[in-house]
Amino acid sequence: MNAKLQELKARLAEVDDLNHANAVLGWDQQTYMPPGGAPARGRQMSTLARLAHEKFTDAAVGRLLDDLRSYEESLPYDSDDAGLIRVTRREYERSTKVPAAFVGELNEHSALSYQAWTEARPANDFNRMRPLLEKTLDLSRRLANYFPGYDHIADPLIDFADYGMKAADVRRVFGDLRAALVPLVQAITSQPPANDDCLKQHFPEDQQRAFGETVIKAYGYDFNRGRQDKTHHPFMTKFSLGDVRITTRFNEHDLGDGLFSTLHESGHAMYEQGINMDYEATPLAGGTSAGVHESQSRTWENIVGRSRGFWEHFYPRLQEVFPDQLNNVSLDTFYRAINKVQRSLIRVDADEVTYNLHVMIRFELELQLLEGTLEIRDLPEAWHARYQSDLGVTAPDDRDGALQDVHWYGGIVGGAFQGYTLGNIMSGLFYNAALQAHPTIPAEIGQGKFDTLHGWLKQNVYQHGAKFTASELIERVTGGPLRIEPYITYLKTKYGELYSL
Ligand code: ZN
Repeated sequence: MNAKLQELKARLAEVDDLNHANAVLGWDQQTYMPPGGAPARGRQMSTLARLAHEKFTDAAVGRLLDDLRSYEESLPYDSDDAGLIRVTRREYERSTKVPAAFVGELNEHSALSYQAWTEARPANDFNRMRPLLEKTLDLSRRLANYFPGYDHIADPLIDFADYGMKAADVRRVFGDLRAALVPLVQAITSQPPANDDCLKQHFPEDQQRAFGETVIKAYGYDFNRGRQDKTHHPFMTKFSLGDVRITTRFNEHDLGDGLFSTLHESGHAMYEQGINMDYEATPLAGGTSAGVHESQSRTWENIVGRSRGFWEHFYPRLQEVFPDQLNNVSLDTFYRAINKVQRSLIRVDADEVTYNLHVMIRFELELQLLEGTLEIRDLPEAWHARYQSDLGVTAPDDRDGALQDVHWYGGIVGGAFQGYTLGNIMSGLFYNAALQAHPTIPAEIGQGKFDTLHGWLKQNVYQHGAKFTASELIERVTGGPLRIEPYITYLKTKYGELYSL
């Protein structure tokens, strides 16, 4: 058995090498590559993706998994070997349903579409993207149809990102959340808005960057196993457990942009850096779902990074970095500014309370596009109509409308957005469980200490990588299924105090 397991691991390591070489190309594409590199880069990434797919779906891998079934069944469910075989089998069964030629076609199309979007969005040119997005939708449907037997055509695509969830599950959870959020948004926005002028002064990029890096070092992001670079649309990427990178962008006229994007991506990265090193080069060495991943970025960005206690420690330090801009701004004013709630147009700039409404709009539009009840040509208008009805605002153009997010232009339509809101819900669940185990965490955050929280998250979430599914992880940590209540309580408590509700 040991020899079979070693052979499986050797094959998986080769697949992993190809995938991570591809990740290096993708990171470069989005950070330093000149525009002229785009056509060849698309082809190169497509070639590597195809080779990885061919290697992983080799019939020999299937035979090894069959041979290892009795060994797997002899092990406890939570053993690493059982987890490795189980997760590899799940991905193998999924991957063997998708032809390699299709994977190549999808990757090549995505790279071209992404490059076009980086020009079409600033130019507010939806028409340029329309044929590309129509092809993306067609490819997304074809992908879903390699997994027949679904209840909703989005189900297989949601399952890729958030394993075990179906469109109907997400709709139910989102419906419950929406029922709690809408009155909260109404109560807050019926009051005078917070004044966030203090964030809109001139903040030189170098100092912003240095301050953000000080914070994430204190959080526990390990720069010996990571680095931060600039990009258009911030992301985290990993080349190995020893090289987990983040990217950010800076706006010299809005302090919040770069800082909170850095805190956000550091949360994604600490999750990956916290994975058991024994899982290196296997399918276990990654976050278990989009939702769990986002729960960690949102924990460090919002629950910690936008908390009053955090700023009691860090605000005097921020004032030292920007004395001219902030010495006359009180902590209270600053705290209200970074937690300003408003009905707005841009998802990535949205506050914690309205953010999920932005996600729900995109999730519903995705389902309609896949169902065929909405045509791509009608997407810009549908977008504006939903923003008007759900948030009471209309974008002046498509740049801040249907062209706003990279997801549909650099990936597939379907499964791209629900993870953000599932992640918010899970951030409340996990943080609540950490507080029950260690009630001193808020006081420690107020002293700029994060070891207890980071340690609890490593122990209970990060180290397991993909060994447990999201719902297994939640069950292990909270003793029950996914619940929205801790997250709702968190929002109501925090914003109830801020707005004296
Ligand atoms: Zn994220």
